[in-house]
Amino acid sequence: MTTAPLVSLHGVAKTFPNGVTALSGLDLDVREGETLTLLGPSGCGKSTVLRLIAGLSPPSAGAISWADPEARKNIGFVFQEPTLLPWANVADNVYLPLRVAGETRAGAQPRIDRVLEHVGLSDFAHALPRELSGGMKMRCAIARALVTRPALILMDEPFAALDEVTRFKLNDDLLALKRDLGATIVFVTHSVFESAYLSTRIIVMSKPRGAIMEEIEIDPALTRDPEFRMSERFSDICRRASRALRDAMGENSR
Ligand code: ADP
Ligand code: MG
Repeated sequence: MTTAPLVSLHGVAKTFPNGVTALSGLDLDVREGETLTLLGPSGCGKSTVLRLIAGLSPPSAGAISWADPEARKNIGFVFQEPTLLPWANVADNVYLPLRVAGETRAGAQPRIDRVLEHVGLSDFAHALPRELSGGMKMRCAIARALVTRPALILMDEPFAALDEVTRFKLNDDLLALKRDLGATIVFVTHSVFESAYLSTRIIVMSKPRGAIMEEIEIDPALTRDPEFRMSERFSDICRRASRALRDAMGENSR
């Protein structure tokens, strides 16, 4: 693909007021349509990258440029904690970003219905968060992120707190959503297997300062199914990512 990146980070640094430098000199392009995984040890700056892209925090140096300035105004963000309003039902939680954008509930209803169907929660529209399993809460958070039809979805370890069976299921659901909706995804994980399964590109980051250790391209045309998890190709990707991750951890202890 030769299309311009959706968003580019050029020489980006982030130093917090307490003096901690999470990132320095980071160059990173997010290409339209890709599922890019940022893989790296805890504290290497993955969440900081997402927050900078989302505009939740400004870079201390460098620049973040958007091919389409409109795209930066409509970003979906999914955090590790589903962060649902406990007193609001599933549909009302999903409505929230549209309400913030000034849309009426009646006008938003068809989109709420559609996105709930996409994540398999149609029958739970009136359930409260406490009535849902961990996986269902996360589906609700994903529906809320998707309801504005963002061109870019940022996901910060969204499945890390879930058991493995639920996690595998949600990985497949995310791939299906991606096929249906075609958004660009930047996905943060510290799971090598998850990164190898979901991504079209993996970037391995290391401490300190989020240096990029490795970049692994994965053919988007590969079918991601249980067979893929057993394949030689999958093992190769995991081996390469694990090796880079091990080097990233080594950098850390130096
Ligand atoms: P990751 O998501 O890879 O675990 P983070 O981006 O959360 O890493 O953090 C990178 C580094 O920046 C860590 O050393 C962390 O302690 C520090 N950090 C993150 N947010 C802040 C903040 N608001 N203030 C001070 N330090 C921070
Ligand atoms: Mg983090």
